[in-house]
Amino acid sequence: MSVQNSFTDLVFSLSDEDFRLLQDAVAVRKNRDKYGVASFEELAVKYDRVPTCPACGSDNAVSFGFSPEGLQRYKCLGCGKYYTLLSNTIFHSANKSFDTWTIYLTLMTFNVPLEMTEEICGISHPTAMLWRQKVFATVDGYQGHLYLKDRVWIDETYVFDSTLLHDDNFKRKRGLSSNLICIVVAIDIHKNTYAVICGHGKPSATRIYKALKDHIVEGSTLVHDGEKAHNMLIEKLDLTSEVYIANAKDKNYLQNMALINNMCSWLKRYIYRFIGMRMENLQSYLNWFVYLFRVKGAAERWPKMERILRHLVLTDVQYKRNR
Ligand SMILES: [Zn+2]
Repeated sequence: MSVQNSFTDLVFSLSDEDFRLLQDAVAVRKNRDKYGVASFEELAVKYDRVPTCPACGSDNAVSFGFSPEGLQRYKCLGCGKYYTLLSNTIFHSANKSFDTWTIYLTLMTFNVPLEMTEEICGISHPTAMLWRQKVFATVDGYQGHLYLKDRVWIDETYVFDSTLLHDDNFKRKRGLSSNLICIVVAIDIHKNTYAVICGHGKPSATRIYKALKDHIVEGSTLVHDGEKAHNMLIEKLDLTSEVYIANAKDKNYLQNMALINNMCSWLKRYIYRFIGMRMENLQSYLNWFVYLFRVKGAAERWPKMERILRHLVLTDVQYKRNR
């Protein structure tokens, strides 16, 4: 027999309304203990978010009363618009609790099916989709300023372009045809990663060059499978080429290419979890993958959820529907 919980009788004696209030209070306590905050406003204050005007982007403002939700309101000295600390963030006018969001985000770091987040968070399918789009919006430009250096592995991986299934004239062709979307994947010795869509079918030297030219530091060593399409990149960035021809029986190849081969299979497994996603969102999924890879890689020094919450509340985003 388990020890009697002294709260059991009390909890069962509560009205439905009081039970709901108790659960809210428990969630506040739980989140304070876990994250140090229990609301979006507290989160914004904790990380010193600077309120910015959603209309003109200025942070030059005066305090001006309170919003209907009780948040400090600011009046922009640039354009005269009113805003709050949470305007310009994805949490602006969030109508669900901080607790629901943190559970949702935790699930999102494991890339679980959306249906699972709906069930566990008690939210609708459109809400679950909207939230995912909002989180993706915060990593939109994330890869733009990433660069890899010293020792860099690259490879291409392919996913079937499912938008073609909706095309009446579509006939699946054999081989590396235009039915496949090419994703260029790169990782360096420092575990910096990069993943970008590189058109349909097998890429040309120009496409590879364009995809990677701003993301690999000149003079680095490029470790790859010797694909001719990599040559322009190697020449123009003055890279040292180190080639391992793909051969699943060659120990030397397997050892030296393990890092990039693993990366490609992780990425593919990740993408396959989202069967039926809209292909125009594919790059957003890749951005999130690369962002998470970085966050998880440093999780011992910096707990992943704290880092993600900080990122979300400090990123200026004006989410637009129907992106
Ligand atoms: Zn303004």
